[in-house]
Amino acid sequence: MQHSGSCLCRAVSVSAEGAPMLARMCWCRVCQYLGSGNATVNAAFPVSSVTVDGPVKWFTDTADSGNEMWRGFCGECGTPLFSKGTRFPDRMVIRLGVFDDINAITPAGAIWTSSAPDWAKIDDNGPLHTHQPPVTP
Ligand SMILES: [Zn+2]
Ligand SMILES: [Zn+2]
Repeated sequence: MQHSGSCLCRAVSVSAEGAPMLARMCWCRVCQYLGSGNATVNAAFPVSSVTVDGPVKWFTDTADSGNEMWRGFCGECGTPLFSKGTRFPDRMVIRLGVFDDINAITPAGAIWTSSAPDWAKIDDNGPLHTHQPPVTP
């Protein structure tokens, strides 16, 4: 199955082949900056299955987990598109808002729930983790 989409201005197009390795929400403090106060919703794919075309701008920082992370944005419109980290160099995390079919991937569970604001509605249809979970395949 092919998942395809783009940023808001369509300067960056993204496609990912096959089912995601996992899809879930992240309530870490960094994601609240990226998600306008909310959790980000993310699907992880093997880097080898992802094709990207367009001007992606990468921002490097250290995540709450202590891992070095690269966050990818459209260089034109600023849409959050990706994250990659030193912990999983073979994994590309794609923000679900990128995909044309918004119902093709359903997130299950959330991480960093301890950082969520008091008003957050935590989706518990999957595993919940207060912090960064142990390594999953
Ligand atoms: Zn754009
Ligand atoms: Zn996060």
